[in-house]
Amino acid sequence: MPEGDTIHKIARAMQPRLPGRALEGLWLRDRGWLARLAGQHVHEIAPLGKHLLVAIGAPAPARPGWVLHVHLGMHGRWHRHERGAAWSRPASQAVVRIAVAGEEWVCSRAARAEILRAVDLALHPTVSRLGPDLLGEAPRLEDVLARARRREPRSAAGLLLDQRVACGIGNVYKNEVLFLEGVHPRTPVAALSDARILALFRRARSLMQANLGGGRRNTLEPGRPVRRGDPRFWVYGRGGLPCRRCAVRLRGGREGDAARATWWCEACQPRAREGGVPLSPPARPPGSASRRRPGPRRRRAAGVGPRPRPRLPGTP
Ligand SMILES: [Zn+2]
Repeated sequence: MPEGDTIHKIARAMQPRLPGRALEGLWLRDRGWLARLAGQHVHEIAPLGKHLLVAIGAPAPARPGWVLHVHLGMHGRWHRHERGAAWSRPASQAVVRIAVAGEEWVCSRAARAEILRAVDLALHPTVSRLGPDLLGEAPRLEDVLARARRREPRSAAGLLLDQRVACGIGNVYKNEVLFLEGVHPRTPVAALSDARILALFRRARSLMQANLGGGRRNTLEPGRPVRRGDPRFWVYGRGGLPCRRCAVRLRGGREGDAARATWWCEACQPRAREGGVPLSPPARPPGSASRRRPGPRRRRAAGVGPRPRPRLPGTP
């Protein structure tokens, strides 16, 4: 699932290959090839939380006139192809194509892709309201704290996913950070001290930074390369399985304003301890627990059912 670390890794892959080069074409599924952008140059690749921004314009030192904005959503992927080579994903899934001499970057199944005038970015309804990027060079955590108090999401789970507080955290890191900080996902944000809120976001930043290398995301032992099937998470996707720390059976449910799937340990993240107490995970987590993410049947058994339908305005 693409989260902030995914977008930063994509940007790192594009960084040496696109800036400074002339576009042979830019294609959006709903617009086709954008003729006015052919011959324009790529200025900059800028990851921002779960958003990727590509600045485009006349060659530097001119300022970029346009920005390509892409949000991968749950299923989006970027792939680089040599020009003329077969694509690794069906052409019918393509949403964006960035073509430069000899190569093409294709984004498939993105939730959102649009071209904006650069001057309009500051007014963009989503991008302009994002909180500090946790993978930015030096995110202002005092700003994150102020936003957390101002926004007042209902629960700790909702707090971490609120991109207007800080951007980059997705559902995997939300679950793992709450476990590692000993915070129950339903803890009201008002019950969390400033220090606990800052600790949650510091933990999220360090976990995501540790996953900026190659390979699969691993929050169990960040930085350790993992193969398919290896344990990678403390609680994410493990409803009904024993806690890797205390062996109590993990709980599952849907939490926060977006009703996203959530897993936790009632012993390590007790409700009574509203403010949470950080855990010191063992240097080598016990490997006795199941190594596989449970299938849909097991997740249903753990209480993570289908997402509730949004209510229509005016209905009780
Ligand atoms: Zn536990």
